[in-house]
Amino acid sequence: MEVIYPELFPIEIPPNTVMLKGLNWDSNIYLFRSGKEALIVDTGTGGNTERYFSLWLGEGYLDGLKRAVIFNTHEHFDHVGGNMAMKKLFERLGIKVIFASHRVTAEVIEHAKSSIILDYTYGKKFNGHKVELKLEDGDYIRIGKRKLLLIHTPGHTAGSSCLYLDGVVKLMFTGDTLFKETVGRTDLPSGNHSLLRESLNRLAEFEVDFGLPGHGWVIKDWRENLRKVMGAI
Ligand SMILES: [Zn+2]
Repeated sequence: MEVIYPELFPIEIPPNTVMLKGLNWDSNIYLFRSGKEALIVDTGTGGNTERYFSLWLGEGYLDGLKRAVIFNTHEHFDHVGGNMAMKKLFERLGIKVIFASHRVTAEVIEHAKSSIILDYTYGKKFNGHKVELKLEDGDYIRIGKRKLLLIHTPGHTAGSSCLYLDGVVKLMFTGDTLFKETVGRTDLPSGNHSLLRESLNRLAEFEVDFGLPGHGWVIKDWRENLRKVMGAI
């Protein structure tokens, strides 16, 4: 019998990660839990924030949550547009929220630099906001008992970064640097093709069970996928 899924449904990835495939122009949105803390990776354009949030709430993914870190993989509007709306929904439940990203992305967000964020291409205006955690390559984000390594992977944009969770199951949140069967475009402002190649070479040094990209489906064949896409660009 064919299983028919609703338009929006949670895809559970061990350990304690929920993937939501972005609706319309939204990036994928991830929620990773450890104890009373959560990491949110990217927030979409903001057009569907309440739908994502009510799904998490209704399915019990936010039970007992005290603190959330919203991390942006890079500067583009389809990844940061929902930041403030998401923060407000968490705060309504008494959950403390802080924003985190690579320093370059954080500066673009704080100054609401439209030329990089490209909000106008969505017919929207992004209002800047403070980013409490400005990270550099090699820094860690602590979520409950776990820590995730920030790897600066410029190329798609200057601030693009991936987050790596080492452990029994190894995850890599790749943003728009790497997708299943393709890579992020490098022709947008602050994009750089040769830097993207270098970034992909760095990603190839990691052992990864599930690559979790900013758009599209989970990458389950990390090395094979990288080999294929690097041969094609
Ligand atoms: Zn992007």
